[in-house]
Amino acid sequence: MSSIVIVGAQWGDEGKGKITNSLATNAKMVVRFQGGNNAGHTVNVNGETLVFHLLPSGISVPGVLCVIGLGVVVDPLGLVEEIDGVRAKGIEVGTNFLIDVGAHMVMPYHRAVEAAEEESRGGSAIGTTRKGIGPAYADRYSREGLPIGMLASFGDFEERLRKIAARKNEILTKLHGAEPLDVDAMVADMRRAAERLVPHLADTPELIRETVASGANVIFEGAQGTLLDISFGTYPFVTSSHTSAAGVAPGTGVPPSMLGEVIGVAKAYITRVGAGPFPTEAIDDLGETIRGRGKERGATTGRPRRCGWLDIVALRYAIGVNGIDRLIITKLDVLDAFETIPVCVGYRIGGGETDRFPRSAEELARVEPLYEEMPGWKADTTAARKHDDLPREAMAYLRRIEELTGVPVAAASVGAAAHAVVQFTEIL
Ligand code: GDP
Repeated sequence: MSSIVIVGAQWGDEGKGKITNSLATNAKMVVRFQGGNNAGHTVNVNGETLVFHLLPSGISVPGVLCVIGLGVVVDPLGLVEEIDGVRAKGIEVGTNFLIDVGAHMVMPYHRAVEAAEEESRGGSAIGTTRKGIGPAYADRYSREGLPIGMLASFGDFEERLRKIAARKNEILTKLHGAEPLDVDAMVADMRRAAERLVPHLADTPELIRETVASGANVIFEGAQGTLLDISFGTYPFVTSSHTSAAGVAPGTGVPPSMLGEVIGVAKAYITRVGAGPFPTEAIDDLGETIRGRGKERGATTGRPRRCGWLDIVALRYAIGVNGIDRLIITKLDVLDAFETIPVCVGYRIGGGETDRFPRSAEELARVEPLYEEMPGWKADTTAARKHDDLPREAMAYLRRIEELTGVPVAAASVGAAAHAVVQFTEIL
C-alpha cells in the first residue's frame, strides 16, 4: 500500500497545493478529507496560476481521479463556479472528479449567520473567511446538516431545506436583526447546482479503500494547518475541521491502519491569517520583508498574512499530533535576503523555559520566543534543483531543522513553479 497524507504543519498556507500537485503526477487518486472553500491552494500549471478551493490539487493532472471526501463541506454554488473557472483554463473536470455523497453542504444561511456572528463578536472576532464553513460543520454535528447526496432526490432535499431555512431566517432576523434570505431563490439556485453536481456524486469510501489496497498511490490532501485543527489547534482561533492526519479516517472512510506515510509541509518561516496568538510574529520591517518576498496574502480572502520566524516548538507539536514521518520545507527562497535567520527553539513563560507547546491560546499568548540565530545565505536559491545547488548556509538551516525536530527533510521548495524543488529523497 502506498498512500500518503499531506498535512500543513503550521497555520496553513504552507504550499500544500503545490506539493500535492507535483506529487500527483505519480498518483492514481487525490482525496481531500476536510475543510471547504475557505481553503485556497495555489498551483502553478504550465506557467499559469490556478487557485483551487474545493477541487483537489491533482485535478490538473491527467489520469488522476480526484475525490472530495465526506469530511469536506461543499458550497454547491461555489463549486460550480470553481469548476467553470478551471474548465475555462482548459482543465478537464469530468469523470476524473467525484464528490462523496456524505459531504455536507454549505448553504447561503451558513454564510449569513457566520457574517452576523463575526460582526457581533466585534473586537474578539475569530477572523474567519466568512464562507460559512464553521456553521456548516456545526449543523452537521447538531443533526441539521444537508449531505450533498440529497441533491439526487431533489424533492426530499427541498422539503428539508425549506424547513431548515425557515428556522435560520428566524435566527437571522430575531437574533441578529438581519434581513431574511429568499428561500425560493435558494431552492432555485440549488436546483441549478444539482443539475451540475449530481453526475459527480458517488459512494467513495470503498472505492478509495480498494485503490489503496491495490497498491496504487493515493494522496490524502489536507487543507489549512495543524495549528488550526479544531481539536489540536490554538482554540478558539481555529478552523472547524480536523486538519491533522487524524481527520483522514472520518473524512474519507479509509481506516487509520490503511494510511501510509505522513508528510508535513512547513514553510521555512511561519505565517498566520486571522486572529490568535503568534509567538514568533515579526511585527517589524523584517516581517514586512517576509510578507513582500513571500507574497503573503490570503488566496481566498486577499488578507495580508501575519509573518514570523520558524517556530520549532510549534513544529515539533505538529509532528507529534500528526505522526509526521518526513518534512517538506517550502518557500526557502523567501529567506534568501536575510543576513541572519532567527529560529525559535523554546519559549520563556512565567520566569521559566519550556519546549512544550501550550494547550491553551491564553497560555500561548503569554510565551516569549527563545531564538537561536542561524547565518543567512544572501544568495538566490530559486534556480536550485539539487542538493549541491543550495548554499552551504541554506543546507545548514535545513539540517538544523532536522536536528531540532528529529524528522528528516525530504525536499525543499524554492519557488512557486512545480519544478522549483530540491528533492533529497524520493517521496512517492
Ligand atoms: P496551501 O494552501 O498550503 O496550498 O498554500 P497557499 O497556496 O495558500 O500558499 C502558498 C503560496 O506560496 C502560493 O502562492 C504558492 O504559489 C507559493 N509557493 C509555494 N511554494 C513556494 C516556494 O517554495 N517559494 C515561493 N516563493 N512561493 C511558493
